Parts: sequence; C-alpha cells; structure tokens
Amino acid sequence: MSRVKSAPARKLDLLVLHVLRVRDLTPNMRRVVLGGEGLARFDVPRNALGPYVKLLIPPRGLDTPAWPILEADGRLTWPEPDRRPVMRTYTVRHLDPSTRELHIDFVLHGDSGIGSRWAADAAPGTPVGIWGPGCVTAQNIDWYLLAGDHTALPAIGFILENLPPDAKGQAFIQVPSRADELPLVGPKGLSVTWLHGHGRGEAQSLLDAVRSAAWPEGRPLVWAGAEASLARAIRLYARKERRLDRDQCHILNYWKSGAPEGSFDYGG
Ligand SMILES: Cc1cc2nc3c(=O)[nH]c(=O)nc-3n(C[C@H](O)[C@H](O)[C@H](O)COP(=O)(O)OP(=O)(O)OC[C@H]3O[C@@H](n4cnc5c(N)ncnc54)[C@H](O)[C@@H]3O)c2cc1C
Repeated sequence: MSRVKSAPARKLDLLVLHVLRVRDLTPNMRRVVLGGEGLARFDVPRNALGPYVKLLIPPRGLDTPAWPILEADGRLTWPEPDRRPVMRTYTVRHLDPSTRELHIDFVLHGDSGIGSRWAADAAPGTPVGIWGPGCVTAQNIDWYLLAGDHTALPAIGFILENLPPDAKGQAFIQVPSRADELPLVGPKGLSVTWLHGHGRGEAQSLLDAVRSAAWPEGRPLVWAGAEASLARAIRLYARKERRLDRDQCHILNYWKSGAPEGSFDYGG
C-alpha cells in the first residue's frame, strides 16, 4: 500500500536569513545560498518529495523590512501594506545544517515576478524571511514517474538525490534549451529524459512523454510540478486514465500562466 503523507503542521516560526552568495547555474537559473543561525534548528526529511519553503520577500529597496509577528495567542499580525513582505514558494534544493546553508534555485523568468526579480537582484547580505519547510513523503512505492518543467528541476534534483539506490522509474524534465540542463545524481534504475522548449506547444511534449512512459507492474507514485494547465492534464491522466488513488499522485500547480502566486491553488 503506498501512502503520500503531509508533513505535520508546524508552528509559524519565521526565520530571517540573509543571502550569503549567488551563482548562475545556467542561463535561466540562479542559485541563492541563504544563511542564518536559525538554520541550526531547521531540517527536512531526506525522503521528502520536493520539500519547500515560503519565502517572505521584502518590498524592493526597503532597507529595514518589517516581518509578520506571531502573537502569543497564535494570531499573525502583518505589517502595514507598504512594508509587508510578499510570499512565494520555492524548493529546498539543498540544506546543510552544519554550515547553516540553504540552497534555493530560482528560475529567472523576468521582471514580472517578485520572486524572480528578487533572485536577480540578490546580493550578499540581502535579507529574506522563510516559513517551513513543508513536504510530503511516500512509502511502499514500487516505481516512480516524475515530471516537471523548469521550476520543478530543483525538486526533481532533490528527490533523485535522496531516493533509495534501488528505486526505479523515469523522470521527464522540460527546460528551455540544452544549456538549461543540470547534472543530476540519482538511482541507476531511474532514467532521466530532458525535453527542450518553453511555452504552450512545448508543454504538450512533456505531457506526451508522460503519457508514453512505460507502465510496469507494481504500485507507482506519480509526482509532477509544472504550469497549472500542464499539471492538470498530468493529474487527469494519472487519476482518470491510469486510475491511481489520490495517495499515489502528488501533482502540483507550481505556477499559472498570467497569474501571480496567491491567485490560484496548488492542486495536489
Ligand atoms: C511547492 C512549490 C515549489 C516550487 N519550487 C520552485 C523552485 O525551486 N524554483 C522556482 O523557480 N520555482 C519554484 N516554484 C514555482 C514558483 O513558486 C512560481 O514560479 C512563482 O510564481 C514565482 O513567483 P514570481 O514572484 O517570480 O512570479 P509571480 O508574481 O507569481 O507571477 C508573475 C507572472 O510571472 C509568471 N510566472 C511565474 N513563474 C513563471 C515561470 N517559471 N516562467 C514563466 N512565467 C512565470 C506568472 O504566470 C505571472 O504572469 C515552486 C512552486 C511550488 C508550489
């Protein structure tokens, strides 16, 4: 029996971290390494399927950001709107509690996004708040089908790195071009196929790849993170055509074309 479990609800402890360094991994992806004392008590389960944090991004150019406050009675008090941080969701690509470093890989998709723009501007010392982590885990899975667009590359990278060495399955990752691929380490029995392109037409090729993937015996887990319409199509395929139970699918709307985060739900 396979199960996908949500992490237990955590107290909303806000950690205020600072950018330690940034590195461009590929033309469209930037790694931001965050540090701070609070990371000594921050952890993610190794078997997490794409652990994530909520980043609280201060308004651009504000030297002293204001953070929400968790009152003694559990209520959350937000600062006034012009000093209020904006929340965005990103994957914990790598966490090293011993050096107190948290690595987050941002797709740089342009100035229209607060998260993307923050990563493009980030420089050592830039502050950011985080809540989390959040994650799901799964047990008793015979094989994995992983799929995602560029935004899911960090999550798929984390999952592959941390699956048991005898895990089996296939991963399909779509990035804009070959230059956006990254070396990934994972179980030998789990193949990785890269697809290239960015846009509506190309999303179809990721869906086609998922639909034509081998479907061996045993209990699969389908994990996907992608633009909402593609995620929906993969969800329909897994749930309706392959008749998987809800607990065998973890398929998230990572972003939605034309809509900022906060204006759509993540699916599931
Ligand atoms: C659990 C989870 C984990 C995630 N992990 C990561 C991660 O590790 N790295 C990462 O880069 N993203 C990740 N995402 C996706 C990320 O949260 C969204 O892309 C988010 O919208 C980015 O915020 P923004 O402020 O840049 O853009 P928003 O303000 O949310 O959106 C502004 C505009 O930009 C568009 N947009 C948003 N994202 C993209 C994109 N990738 N390409 C093109 N247009 C876009 C929107 O459609 C909108 O029109 C994750 C999402 C979830 C739910």
